[in-house]
Amino acid sequence: MSLPSIIAVDGPAGSGKSTISHQLAERYGYLFIDTGIFYRTMTLVALRAGIPFSNTDALTTLTENTHIDIISQNDDPTHPYAVFVEGEDVTNQIRTPQVEASVSALSAIGSVRAALVEQQRRIAAKGNIIMAGRDIGTVVLPHADVKLYIDASIQERARRRFQERVSQGQSANLAEIEAAMVQRDRVDSEREVSPLRQAKDAIYISTDNKSIEQVLGEIGEKLEIWQPA
Ligand code: C5P
Repeated sequence: MSLPSIIAVDGPAGSGKSTISHQLAERYGYLFIDTGIFYRTMTLVALRAGIPFSNTDALTTLTENTHIDIISQNDDPTHPYAVFVEGEDVTNQIRTPQVEASVSALSAIGSVRAALVEQQRRIAAKGNIIMAGRDIGTVVLPHADVKLYIDASIQERARRRFQERVSQGQSANLAEIEAAMVQRDRVDSEREVSPLRQAKDAIYISTDNKSIEQVLGEIGEKLEIWQPA
């Protein structure tokens, strides 16, 4: 069986793309990189530094000079990665509602994206990778061997995020989560630079009313019959 070397995965918040990508990576022996981590981490760093999101030059310089380390910790299924910035573990801090409320604003800045995309391409160049985000199939890795677009209804996506927060002992309000998600999707899809979009050659997968196993089976079948072009 010859598996594709580079798999691009895109989709909106809460679609299940990270969970699915992580499990595919485990099953087939890929490195998984969740590019949302880069945008979330830079948002946290910018908020802490007190840089207004209108100051694009300062944010770009900050991005170019910030070293983000993603360390795989396969024994923790809810956080398969630990994220370090300048040596500090920020794995939990990048998942807060505060970061989520600001991340789309930072992600809309073209020069910040350019700096992060360069890092992402460098990581992907080694191959044997599943990379997930919003613009992977369209911008970061347009020549990926396989592109997946993973989607689900807004109700389902909000419900999953709600359960994730509750299971981590955080307080959560379903209506607020749904409203914040709609807003984040809107900004991510309507921005001028690299908006969230399904690549023309991507395979569309809905995760509504499906178990993780079902989705993994559906994608696994496609990977196993994949042939180099
Ligand atoms: O995937 P996740 O929800 O962690 O992404 C957080 C945010 O990072 C998204 O809402 C989006 O604004 C941004 N993002 C992006 N491009 C990517 C990955 C994430 O703009 N490739």
